[in-house]
Amino acid sequence: MIKTTFVTKEKLNEITREYPTPFHLYEERGIRERARELNAAFAWCSEYGGFREYFAVKANPNPALLKILMEEGCGLDCSSYCELLLAEKVGASGKEVASGKEVGLCPMTRSEPSRQAKANGVASIMFSSNQTPDADFLLADKLGATINLDDFTHIDILEKLLGTIPANISCRYNPGGEFKLTESGNVMDVPHDAKYGFTKEQLFEGYRLLKAKGAKRFGIHAFLASNTKTNDYYPALARILFELLVEIREKTGVSLDYVNLSGGVGVAYNPVTETPCDIAAIGAGVRKAYEEILIPAGMGGVAILSELGRFMLAEFGCLVTRAIREKRIYKDYIGVDACAANLMRPAMYGAYHHISIPGREGEEAAHKYDIVGGLCENNDKFAIDRMLPQIKAGTKDGDLLIIHDTGAHGHAMGYNYNGKLRSAELLLRENGEVELIRRAETPEDYFATLEF
Ligand SMILES: *Cc1c(COP(=O)(O)O)cnc(C)c1O
Repeated sequence: MIKTTFVTKEKLNEITREYPTPFHLYEERGIRERARELNAAFAWCSEYGGFREYFAVKANPNPALLKILMEEGCGLDCSSYCELLLAEKVGASGKEVASGKEVGLCPMTRSEPSRQAKANGVASIMFSSNQTPDADFLLADKLGATINLDDFTHIDILEKLLGTIPANISCRYNPGGEFKLTESGNVMDVPHDAKYGFTKEQLFEGYRLLKAKGAKRFGIHAFLASNTKTNDYYPALARILFELLVEIREKTGVSLDYVNLSGGVGVAYNPVTETPCDIAAIGAGVRKAYEEILIPAGMGGVAILSELGRFMLAEFGCLVTRAIREKRIYKDYIGVDACAANLMRPAMYGAYHHISIPGREGEEAAHKYDIVGGLCENNDKFAIDRMLPQIKAGTKDGDLLIIHDTGAHGHAMGYNYNGKLRSAELLLRENGEVELIRRAETPEDYFATLEF
């Protein structure tokens, strides 16, 4: 199966003449198109309470990419102090919202965000954190972020810190047990073992308390499965949350204003065994649940939010690395100049990332290789027993390899183990120009925090 990418061999040769490997390369066009597909899939929400994606900053915190997403109407989902600072620096802060108009937002230069993107009436930073330090709560409040509480005890903590409860507040739900799409279906994840969120009873009590303390707008959030490859995840989650909204209103008298479906829509990393999600079908599935549950309950003003990370960016980034060494012992190894410090997913999760050799995608894959980095850790393998065309190794003239789908949870998870430095990040603009959006680390960066 040929998996294509957004950059040609010729373009890549041009880029590597200017920028040494390894580097992550991102594609502006794909990112914009993806954001538009998502907004189109949820355009039906404009008849109801609106829709907005809050990009999960942890998936890729590069400001150049955040700005592209913001121009497409996305807000930002942060979970730490520095992510909040980043959001502030790219102009994403913004206090409350009056009649569908957000105050203090960055100017939407490229394309006006759709009406529904503006209409949901929440600030443009979502703060979904856990085990939250005081300083983070204080900064989130200062920036006018929507605070999504991870725990019942945080209601009191927040009130003491701020002197009041914010008018707009969200709570994260953990249903416990096992999460399945259907009664007889496979277990997708085990919320019982997840550290996040309120129990159902805590939610009822929490909304009562928040209302009593003066909150006016209420949201709910849940994230029950990650990197899902089915169009049924969001609709199933929406159904659970919509039914809960009705129950919350019955039990507490609190009417919720928005439902945050969070992240978890996956991508097809493996072109043979996985099929891509169909976001239009996902949007239609959520609509069906909305019209079956919320509309009859008279709750047609509820907004839908998402906090997608992977789905927004994974496919629009790749790690470009050179085959520098070849080694034959009991197996054949190709050593590349990138390592797990540049892309941790294969080492950490055993995740599959497709690898191709630009310009040779159609060639017979007759050689079995382990493609490895240079960490002194035997899990530093980008691929194990992978069939590929014969690869030529050499520090100057070795083949370039493309490791696909690194746009989310790629560079962002980088680290400095073994004295390895984090790579540059480049952006392929829509006009074909390549921009350096993060330089590679240098030894000086590595030593910058040390005292001796
Ligand atoms: C990680 C995370 C996301 C994004 O998850 P993806 O799998 O990248 O879609 C969204 N919300 C929260 C709170 C997260 O922790």
